[in-house]
Amino acid sequence: MVTAPPPAVAAGAPILSTRNLTIRYGGVPAVRGVDLEVPERRITAVIGPSGCGKSTLLRAFNRMNDFIEGVSMEGQVLYRGRDIHARGTDPVEVRLRIGMVFQKPNPFPKTIYQNVVWGPRINGYRGDLRALAEEALRRAALWDEVKDNLDRSGLALSGGQQQRLCIARALAMQPEVILLDEPCSALDPASTARIEDLLFELKERYTIVTVTHNMQQAARLSDFTAFLWQGELVEYGPTQEIFTRPREKRTEDYVTGKFG
Ligand code: ADP
Repeated sequence: MVTAPPPAVAAGAPILSTRNLTIRYGGVPAVRGVDLEVPERRITAVIGPSGCGKSTLLRAFNRMNDFIEGVSMEGQVLYRGRDIHARGTDPVEVRLRIGMVFQKPNPFPKTIYQNVVWGPRINGYRGDLRALAEEALRRAALWDEVKDNLDRSGLALSGGQQQRLCIARALAMQPEVILLDEPCSALDPASTARIEDLLFELKERYTIVTVTHNMQQAARLSDFTAFLWQGELVEYGPTQEIFTRPREKRTEDYVTGKFG
């Protein structure tokens, strides 16, 4: 079990890193020259005002920007030291290792069970799908609520349950990293608290990177915080330092609510 906080951002090999990463939409930069190292089995929060490039940066970690027309990229994204854009790298393989959960819960219009096993099934999983589904649902803290109703539609669940189902769906792919883009912003406070508790448990096994514009959430939940502003990484460090002793004036102004 991982309990002690890491001594510094760069201690040990980062699982994900960016090198001088610039991402443009139709030539206009949304992320500018970002160097970031994401430590393994920790929660890293990406914060900053709307439009500062958080989602664009998050999508770069598993090549989800590939799906957006007009995107161009310079620099590198490394996963365990390997360039995920290197020739011969399969983006599908990258996304199997680095899963994503979106802002709005988006279960498929299928049963709870089908939602969880859909990815492993189309990827040719040869093990016991029932056992895999149970494990993923347990890890997503949803099993007890759905175990007698696995054939119910995923869409019949509450918003918070749907988001945990989407997390279970991501976990069933047996990823190492889970990227979350504002996973609680469509949820009520009780469901948000459950997701936060869940993420806290999941970091024992998984690396988590979450975008949030909720600063209290970043402060409560994350080990490291990256503050982006107008596409630039202004400051990155242990969350406690970012919120209590930021080095940069812009960080201080943002975390104390002076803008954003
Ligand atoms: P955030 O997640 O911090 O709100 P985004 O990464 O969504 O920021 O957006 C960063 C910048 O890139 C914004 O100026 C936004 O308008 C622009 N942008 C985002 N997505 C697209 C897109 N698909 N096409 C063109 N511009 C985009």
